[in-house]
Amino acid sequence: MRILIVEDEPTLQAQLADGLGAAGYAVDAAGNGVDAHYLGDTEPYDAVILDLGLPQMDGITVLKKWRSTGRTMPVLILTARDGWHEKVAGIDAGADDYLTKPFHMEELLARLRALIRRAGGHASAELICGPLTLDTRNNRATVDGQALTLTSHEYRVLAYLMHHRDEVVSRSDLIEHIYAQDFDRDSNTVEVFIARLRKKLPPGLIETVRGLGYRLSAPQ
Ligand code: CA
Repeated sequence: MRILIVEDEPTLQAQLADGLGAAGYAVDAAGNGVDAHYLGDTEPYDAVILDLGLPQMDGITVLKKWRSTGRTMPVLILTARDGWHEKVAGIDAGADDYLTKPFHMEELLARLRALIRRAGGHASAELICGPLTLDTRNNRATVDGQALTLTSHEYRVLAYLMHHRDEVVSRSDLIEHIYAQDFDRDSNTVEVFIARLRKKLPPGLIETVRGLGYRLSAPQ
């Protein structure tokens, strides 16, 4: 899962990037509204964390522009304490949730997980596919209760497939959702991650759909 952080305060931006990186997300960051708007308009984020007070273009304007051009990714806005009017304006502009500064990283991560799973139509923090369970609260994958040992990129691939179970996911989708923008992307590595995951998972769980990509589904 790939997240855009929009925050102009450098220390907070770095804390958010560290916290989200440690939680297993691929992270891009923007420090002003113009860059934020461009990234959110051109890159496929699984969620956005958007500060409202930003240089060059304010967060409400950025959000309205995204929504007016059909960008539907979940957006969590960061608002000032006592900023109830900001919350109202943000939600009316298309925000899905808000958090008041200062906040605890754990709460932000929980709200982010909820936004991402709701966007994928999942009600629970535990995603299940046949014998495979992925607990998004602690990035733990188990098969019949036995924990799997996954690298961070293997986890990102598996998490993306689990959030999109029974759907065909292309190699380029996977690349765009497991790597940050400045990462040196190599499409062959996706095949490597899939091959490694298949060795760790029961046979038949990840199917290759020729010419289209991969599909994770419970074996019949
Ligand atoms: Ca700000």
